[in-house]
Amino acid sequence: MKHAMTIILLATASAVLAADKPVIHHDVELWFDLGLHHVRILDTVTVPAGVDSLRLNEAFVLIGSDTPMPQVGSVSESLRTFPVAPGKVQLDYQAALFESTEDITFSRENVGREIQATVSNEGIYLAAEGWLVFHEDAMATHRLTVHTPLGWEPMTQGRRQSREVIGEELVTVWDATKPADGLILIANAYHVTERDFDGITSYTYFLEDDPKLVETYQERTGVYLEMYRDMIGPYPYAKFATVENWFPTGYGMPSWTLLGGTVLRLPFIPFTSFGHEIAHNWWGNSSFVDVEGGNWCEGLTVYCADYHYKSLESDAAAAEYRKNLLKDFAAYVTSERDMTLREFKSRHSGATRAIGYGKSMMVFHMVERAIGRDAFLKAIQDVWSSHPFTQVSWDDFFLAFSEFGGQDLGWMRDQWLERTGAPVLRLESAVTVDDRVNFVLTQDEPLWTVDVPVLVETLAGTEEHVVRLDAARAEYLVEAQGAVAIHVDPDDHVFRRLHPEEIEPTLSQVLGEEAPRFVAAGAPGREFSERWTESDNPIMVTMEDDPEAHARIVVNPSQLELKRWLPSDIQLAGTLLFLQGLRIDLKLNDVVMAVTDPDQPGVTSLLVLSRSDVGLPGLADRVSHYGKYSWLIFPAKGRPQRGNWPAVDSPLSLTLDPGGWK
Ligand SMILES: [Zn+2]
Repeated sequence: MKHAMTIILLATASAVLAADKPVIHHDVELWFDLGLHHVRILDTVTVPAGVDSLRLNEAFVLIGSDTPMPQVGSVSESLRTFPVAPGKVQLDYQAALFESTEDITFSRENVGREIQATVSNEGIYLAAEGWLVFHEDAMATHRLTVHTPLGWEPMTQGRRQSREVIGEELVTVWDATKPADGLILIANAYHVTERDFDGITSYTYFLEDDPKLVETYQERTGVYLEMYRDMIGPYPYAKFATVENWFPTGYGMPSWTLLGGTVLRLPFIPFTSFGHEIAHNWWGNSSFVDVEGGNWCEGLTVYCADYHYKSLESDAAAAEYRKNLLKDFAAYVTSERDMTLREFKSRHSGATRAIGYGKSMMVFHMVERAIGRDAFLKAIQDVWSSHPFTQVSWDDFFLAFSEFGGQDLGWMRDQWLERTGAPVLRLESAVTVDDRVNFVLTQDEPLWTVDVPVLVETLAGTEEHVVRLDAARAEYLVEAQGAVAIHVDPDDHVFRRLHPEEIEPTLSQVLGEEAPRFVAAGAPGREFSERWTESDNPIMVTMEDDPEAHARIVVNPSQLELKRWLPSDIQLAGTLLFLQGLRIDLKLNDVVMAVTDPDQPGVTSLLVLSRSDVGLPGLADRVSHYGKYSWLIFPAKGRPQRGNWPAVDSPLSLTLDPGGWK
């Protein structure tokens, strides 16, 4: 099973599902004819007890079998079903497979067309369900003998046992001994490198000879293998391979990752998504998700990867990461789009990402705050090592957290997994009384139990107090000499719904709008709106129409309107825009800004200023990757610049009269 990368994102991240299921074994030999798009598969299948049928993708024709196997019917249009009995059965099947890979593109939240299987001079790619016979309630182990043309190298799951040139072909043998729910096979004219990290073979399979790129990925692979060995446990496979695809993909599979050439070369990928995919070899690929109780896997992988890298960078970077998760939740998750973590299965929208990745990660973070880093790590190590290649549930984690943390965390499990929404905290009042600070916290209904970090700023420094809030209103008294200010959860340790004042306008707030109103004239404006909504009927309005509390996307407004819309600290002089110390010529740059809608206080709208009509529609595709920013500048050439408006005052902070300090 593959995991889509979180950054580039085909939205197909579905967790590996497995129980303690029967395991089928395949001993497979494969031959290809690239010109004819042909693959022939000789598959000796060991059928375990409990498996009474096998399914084969309908693109394949069964040309031989050592037992009579009538087709008994189709369970779906693309799959066939055959009855089998436990024991060995030999099947001979073949197919002509060709799909054009030319129009394959990425899209942040909407699934594009995915290639299933193709065999051609461009490459071999077998990923369709049922390209090897399977049973939906069984797992499988594999031994593959792959015949490819000279100069071509195949890659798949498992260990490469042998590699031998025989006549006009390369014959490689692969052993994938760990149960999996299928595998992907790819082959191409690869440049292969190989390194050893403590007995684990790390491969790169790149389409170009690029020593610098090889060095980056090999170095990172070594770093991550060591990082997760120390954090979780020994790497569960014999190899890890980083493989370039000739069309866009961003997949992580057991023991390898398959990245399109563009993604592979994005400079931040080796330091972010690449590590996330390697971490999935522990979470998801060698400990499977018991999805009935909710998919915990993405939240924990984000916690061990994306978020962990921020923590290694600095406390401030980690705090900013948490804040962005809370902003995402506020932007994308309305009550209609909310779900519990028990209900989360996979990501298919901004809302499901904000819950299944963001809220989930915050739950792990709050548990770690509650029991400490050591106990937290011991607990996840214990869960991982005690469930090798079997199902793990949220409940297994909470049992371990309670055990290693020495306290019953059942209340946390129930509250965070079985409730939608998030607490809304308020600081009602705060006063100094001698050497103490007296403050009142309140929360909106329905009530939550939360351990709230409260920072008291004093003339001598900052002190953190953690107080428990489990009522609608509670009063607290903490020791603090010379207190000058109090801040409730300023570093966003609690999963909560942010106040609008805590959120500066960002693009994600508009990206999260289901029915934005477009003020965009002309054919290019129309095309931009269609590409933005990925539909034929965007809601086009004029500036005078009532937006009815929806975000507006205003494209190339008049100079007069632009002045009315711009935040007050941004100056406009002719075609020059002065923004946070930058001088931007609107004739040479495309500019996108999230701003407070001048006609709808509390609603974030978007200004889109394009330097030409030609480039306008394409802007719709570009901005979706920059949701966390307030403004973007795309120069005609070179990298986009981006930034955020300064944070607004939080209603969770109050200044105090330091009366108690002498
Ligand atoms: Zn993931």
